[in-house]
Amino acid sequence: MHTTHHPVDVLVVGAGLAGLACARDLAAEGRTVSIVEASDAPGGRMRTDRRDGFLLDRGFQVFNTSYPQVRRRLDLRALRLHPFTPGLLVHRGGSLVRVVDPSRRPREAGALRPGRLAPTRDLLALGRLTAADTLLPAPLLKRRPERTTRTALAEAGVSEHTVDTLLRPFLSGVFLEDGLETSSRVFHLVWRSLVRGSLCLPAEGIGSVPAQLARNLPPGTVRYGAPVAELTPAGALLDDGGEHPARAVVVATGPREAARLLDGLDVPGTRTVTTYYHTAAVPPLDEPTLLVDAAGRFLNSCVLSRVAPGYAPRGIPLVSTSVLGGDRPGREREVRGALSEAYGADTGHWELLAACTVEDALPAMPPPWPLSRGTRVSPGRYVCGDHRATGSVQGALASGARAAREVLADLSRGGTA
Ligand SMILES: Cc1cc2nc3c(=O)[nH]c(=O)nc-3n(C[C@H](O)[C@H](O)[C@H](O)COP(=O)(O)OP(=O)(O)OC[C@H]3O[C@@H](n4cnc5c(N)ncnc54)[C@H](O)[C@@H]3O)c2cc1C
Repeated sequence: MHTTHHPVDVLVVGAGLAGLACARDLAAEGRTVSIVEASDAPGGRMRTDRRDGFLLDRGFQVFNTSYPQVRRRLDLRALRLHPFTPGLLVHRGGSLVRVVDPSRRPREAGALRPGRLAPTRDLLALGRLTAADTLLPAPLLKRRPERTTRTALAEAGVSEHTVDTLLRPFLSGVFLEDGLETSSRVFHLVWRSLVRGSLCLPAEGIGSVPAQLARNLPPGTVRYGAPVAELTPAGALLDDGGEHPARAVVVATGPREAARLLDGLDVPGTRTVTTYYHTAAVPPLDEPTLLVDAAGRFLNSCVLSRVAPGYAPRGIPLVSTSVLGGDRPGREREVRGALSEAYGADTGHWELLAACTVEDALPAMPPPWPLSRGTRVSPGRYVCGDHRATGSVQGALASGARAAREVLADLSRGGTA
């Protein structure tokens, strides 16, 4: 006989960031809420596996402290964050070039000497763009004309050469695409958050971020290993035949699964990324700095154990390197070849610990890309997730918050089902 669970006001499908934020806001307003999650832990695309004393994030990602939703919802101190060096190293033309943020490292601003990194007029153009993105109120940024990132940079006066040798190598790792086809509004918001915040890794892995959100929910809110098969007029039917009656259902899955469960949703294109985790005999770089490659053979690389020592057993250097797209025979060896040039180190004896491919890692966000979409799909049915806002931690949390606001408004009017 199949179980019929207690009826709740709201059933949330998916315990990624969006679902967790949504459930938290609903519970805070006194609504009864359950989350059903297909996998065995919270986090969705933000999870960490423990293996033989290593912490392996399911795809390298960084944590940005400046996102408004992050500041509102998370106890940053409890995450014990380890910052990356502000700025980065760019491997181009056979050598490493250091890019510093002069506002944080004034003593190293000499690295920005005109001509060394980019022509003076490009540095000035970039300075103007950065000042506007950092100082203007966010609502103004959101109303700026919508272009591709490449066009916005050209219009700001940054030369194609500087874009291709300095900005694209870094931004391709942020948007997981190397054509700079992403919406310029998304770019300006991300640029603002990068300049205003710090890029960090939590001591216990990226998965500790959603784990903290899950701990802040009323006990028993989340059921794991509970995939939803379909939505029903009464609520949702699980794969195991169990029924979950609810006045409202919020689908907080990725875009493909959301379109399967709810009629009438469009599915955006998505980006795929692969992260290789290697162990080395000696760390190829003795600083917690992100390294990017102008030739695009990899998106970014860093010595994870130098950023956050808890990612590896003591004394074992752990290197993370991400590439666009999936894994294929021979790719890891090519990547190691590129890393050997970039780090100036012998990578021949590095050991591959894991290769982690994440399909649908981010939604593609070409212009025009709405920065926040409504969540009501039909009476009593809602959708949220990064694909309804921006493909980021901020976007996922903000979309979950918006779903909660819209559900609460409908429930208080006595509406929904
Ligand atoms: C490799 C990688 C790098 C990234 N780098 C960054 C970065 O540096 N900075 C940044 O801000 N963002 C980054 N992101 C993006 C960020 O992680 C995501 O935007 C965010 O985690 C998405 O959260 P979500 O809740 O919208 O969706 P998801 O995390 O996909 O959550 C959906 C949940 O729904 C569950 N589910 C699916 N189907 C069902 C079903 N039928 N029944 C029940 N449950 C179901 C899934 O198991 C999952 O837990 C990165 C993402 C990846 C993958």
